[in-house]
Amino acid sequence: MWSTVPLFNRGETSYIISIPFNAKPEIQFAAKELQHYILKASGALLPIREQNSSDKYCIFLSADESNSEDFQYYSEGQNIRIHGLGGRGIINAIYDFLENELGIHWLTSETTIIPHIQSYYISSVERRGKPAFTTRLNYYLDAIQNPLWCQYNRINSTNYNSNYPYAHVTWYGMHNFRYLLSEKDYFVSHPEFFSLKEGKRIKSGQLCLTNPDVLKIVVNSLKKIIRGRPTYTIYDVSQNDNNNFCQCDKCTEIIKKYGGHSGLNLWFVNQVADSIKKTFPDKLIGTFAYRYTRQAPKNIKARDNVVIRFCTFESCIIHGFSDCKTNTVFEEDLIQWSKITQHLEVWDYCVGFNQYIAPCPNFRALAERFCTYKRLNISGLLMEGNYEGPWGDFSELRQWIISKLMWNPYQDVDSLAHLFINAYYSDAAPYIWDFYQLTQNQVQSTTHFPIYADFKNPVYTDDYIRKSNQIIERARLISQKDSVLSARVARVAAQVYYLEATRHSSIETSRINARNRLSDIIKKDSTYFMEYHKNMTLAFKILGI
Ligand SMILES: [Zn+2]
Ligand SMILES: [Zn+2]
Repeated sequence: MWSTVPLFNRGETSYIISIPFNAKPEIQFAAKELQHYILKASGALLPIREQNSSDKYCIFLSADESNSEDFQYYSEGQNIRIHGLGGRGIINAIYDFLENELGIHWLTSETTIIPHIQSYYISSVERRGKPAFTTRLNYYLDAIQNPLWCQYNRINSTNYNSNYPYAHVTWYGMHNFRYLLSEKDYFVSHPEFFSLKEGKRIKSGQLCLTNPDVLKIVVNSLKKIIRGRPTYTIYDVSQNDNNNFCQCDKCTEIIKKYGGHSGLNLWFVNQVADSIKKTFPDKLIGTFAYRYTRQAPKNIKARDNVVIRFCTFESCIIHGFSDCKTNTVFEEDLIQWSKITQHLEVWDYCVGFNQYIAPCPNFRALAERFCTYKRLNISGLLMEGNYEGPWGDFSELRQWIISKLMWNPYQDVDSLAHLFINAYYSDAAPYIWDFYQLTQNQVQSTTHFPIYADFKNPVYTDDYIRKSNQIIERARLISQKDSVLSARVARVAAQVYYLEATRHSSIETSRINARNRLSDIIKKDSTYFMEYHKNMTLAFKILGI
């Protein structure tokens, strides 16, 4: 059934946004967002009013009291009802409505697609939304630095401080033994708090987790953090990012008792969780299953307020878990962990960290992995992309797609990519789409790609680079008159030039040409290509740029 009165027509409207009397802040916020974006798309300003029985044409907003992120919206005669099953649900609902009904897309923090719509009639519609994963953290620099973009794309977590209540709510902290008990405060007076390695207590390692004073200090530090930042659900207590674990007799004994380093870590974190539960019964304590603690322990279970964050650091990132010999172990490990914990999350990786600039053909694998996580009842995801600088292969596209798949992994990833590429690369889109497909098709059952892959990886072939160059050249030519588009295309071209310049050392002319073209792109677009970290400069050092 269709309403005979348009929601808007040529900038005019008879509709209002109707909110409950004394509406909670989330509903008021959602109403303003809806009003703002409908105005931008149509030129029509829908007034926001408290509910009144005489109102005739309404978009009704409402929300339950819970923290649920679920929502539904549906047409009811000439009206629309948008309902959040919790406060965050109504906010998610608005963005979903704007995306699906009006075609508004928040592609990157700088690029929002808002179509100009002359008239819009409410048709029969019913839609429900429910996130596939409770924790959703997109670890790309643009997402990290732009909480509002996260909010629009329903990302809800950060590893950093955030003052955006509707963007970041779930997990606080990572690798934080060093903050909970710092070397600066304790190493000189209490070296016994820190790892024993080859007979010596060392800095830049882990904590001695069997020392009872370490437990007390960690608990007190954590309580301070929770009191200072009370809005999060999960607070991190996890190993530092190194393999220098404690080798003292007591730690070694607990490791043996519980079947490995993860057993010692969980034994410690369980005790922290017990102490925290007395004061903060609603809070959860998160910890890593990472590198030397990756495999599930034996003879011990996680407390019901402990969350395990399992890391796929050693995996091949261009394959799912069932079709790659490197990866089958991760599914097995996850199954073992799921037997001893109620809350299991995953920290996954999606780029080559030695060469952010080189193509990483993993879009289809991403979707497959996310579906596996959903099947295994994983409750939260962090996807680590290029967090160190804005540039990388298809950073904008991959960042957006990760957000979409975190909400619903059962979407066709190529269709999502097609939507983004059409919107973002306009006239050059057909060529960028060809390059995207060519790149994804490089993945074979025999090619594998660890997170520290380099330009010699077998997914890169001479034939691939030759074909890519031809496609990119067409994209470059068609984008020349549009400075915004040509900059976007240049960022894609940089992937190919990088490979050509690194791989074809034997063909000196083409190598130098590619290097010069890449050098020009980097100079012109220096903000995008700015370097944050040694890994990024590594690629440039190889090229002598
Ligand atoms: Zn120890
Ligand atoms: Zn593989």
